[in-house]
Amino acid sequence: MNKQTYDITIIGGGPAGIYAAYYARLRKLNVALIESLPKLGGQPETLYAQKNIYDMPGYSKISGTDVSNKLIEQLHNLKCDEYLETSVTGLTQEGDIWKVSTNKETIYSSAIIIAIGNGSFKPRKLTFDYDKALEKSNLSYFVNDMEEYRDKDLAVAGGGDSAVDWAIHLNDLTKHTAIIHRRNRYRAMETSVDELNNSTVEQLNPYIIKDVQFNADDKSKIDVTLKMIKSDDIKVITVDKLLVNYGFMSDSKILRDWNIELEGPFIKVSQELETNLPNVFAIGDIVTYPGKLQLLATAFAEAPMAVTKALRNIYPGRDYFAHSTSLFEK
Ligand SMILES: Cc1cc2nc3c(=O)[nH]c(=O)nc-3n(C[C@H](O)[C@H](O)[C@H](O)COP(=O)(O)OP(=O)(O)OC[C@H]3O[C@@H](n4cnc5c(N)ncnc54)[C@H](O)[C@@H]3O)c2cc1C
Repeated sequence: MNKQTYDITIIGGGPAGIYAAYYARLRKLNVALIESLPKLGGQPETLYAQKNIYDMPGYSKISGTDVSNKLIEQLHNLKCDEYLETSVTGLTQEGDIWKVSTNKETIYSSAIIIAIGNGSFKPRKLTFDYDKALEKSNLSYFVNDMEEYRDKDLAVAGGGDSAVDWAIHLNDLTKHTAIIHRRNRYRAMETSVDELNNSTVEQLNPYIIKDVQFNADDKSKIDVTLKMIKSDDIKVITVDKLLVNYGFMSDSKILRDWNIELEGPFIKVSQELETNLPNVFAIGDIVTYPGKLQLLATAFAEAPMAVTKALRNIYPGRDYFAHSTSLFEK
């Protein structure tokens, strides 16, 4: 059994976790980074590798996969112990040490930083029964390859950032794009809504999807039945592809088993990113506090704060903070 005790074990290898691991290595801490998927990167790598990000500090435009590759490259300059394809299942305390149980091995650590985002990536699906064969051909909840949409008739369902961003982005490739939203107002960045309004994307609002079926005459297409909100108006559109972006289900059950204090599905943290458990911190999309925004920029800001607080707790004598990274060069 691996009895090494790490200073910090980071659970979740998304942007928050990778950057926390890098920053902890910069502070010369002994770090384990655990990620359930085969590759580090989290949402930008898994959910929107080809989508561009416009609010990443220092970049006017950068794709999801480039963000994760740059974070990984930065981490690999200092290296930490990476446990990939390893899912954390349990968190228990043995004296001052945390015992992290996984599907593979047990890891011991003085402090823990939880950076699991929304947990596993489970999309909110259409709630009515439909032929699941559609998911193999015409209906998707993720964009794996934008080229699949080239010259197609596309309908995007949803009214949040992801739906609006994908409608705009894919509209450059498609023959025609429509967005279906149950309200007249989108829950998306103002600049994105402006861009949508100035684009050729057809806006089908306020409609909900009632049914999806293979088209009777052309099985390569699907008929999407829409019902107008507070009206009996029904309309059927025929498209090649339906991309549903209703968000993701958070997976808070595992956290309840760890006795972490939650607010809704999120971990409640102090200003210093502390949870209710001693030396257990949380950062990124999984946390909540007044004013929390689920953004890359906030995740990156939270990482050094959690690491610094953990360092101060573990090594009270090393309570030194340098604001200039050049001091770490040697
Ligand atoms: C479509 C879309 C577009 C977006 N666009 C932008 C944008 O333009 N700008 C912006 O700032 N933000 C954007 N975001 C939000 C941004 O991606 C998130 O805020 C960010 O990814 C949060 O990082 P995180 O590390 O907290 O979580 P995540 O990226 O979710 O990473 C968490 C990691 O933890 C792993 N994990 C989960 N449970 C376990 C476990 N039990 N054991 C081990 N590992 C585990 C997961 O596999 C995952 O890799 C977008 C999000 C989406 C979905």
